[in-house]
Amino acid sequence: MTKPQTKVESFELDHTAVKAPYVRLITVETGSKGDQISNFDLRLVQPNANAIPTAGLHTIEHLLAGLLRDRMDGVIDCSPFGCRTGFHLITWGQHTTTEVVQALKGSLEQIANDIKWEDVPGTDIKSCGNYRDHSLFSAKEWSKKILAEGISDDPFERNVI
Ligand SMILES: [Zn+2]
Repeated sequence: MTKPQTKVESFELDHTAVKAPYVRLITVETGSKGDQISNFDLRLVQPNANAIPTAGLHTIEHLLAGLLRDRMDGVIDCSPFGCRTGFHLITWGQHTTTEVVQALKGSLEQIANDIKWEDVPGTDIKSCGNYRDHSLFSAKEWSKKILAEGISDDPFERNVI
């Protein structure tokens, strides 16, 4: 067996140097026909200090799927990191980190203040792969904590938007 040869940018980031919550542009990639996609690091809690429990993270994931698309064009996917400290956001085209922070902040405010259980999409056995593992209570409490700390558009400096 050989080890993987490709260096993945996410593993080159010094996770002890960042100051969460933040939005970071990981990469912009251009396809063979010129289309561009961007990959962002939406870091909601401090790496190796905190992690959002799975049920709350799962509910935030289901909600961000719609709430980010309400606020930004070109959203392809927003999926949680295995370490449970945040999400990848993949979009068509280029967006500033400030624009992404504003969309994320608005989405978390809606989760914290407005969303009711019946507003959460995909919470039954037909529409989710682990429908028993959701918590809107946890999603709201973690959203409030992230908003209280403020979301920076710079991973290394606190530049709260
Ligand atoms: Zn699910």
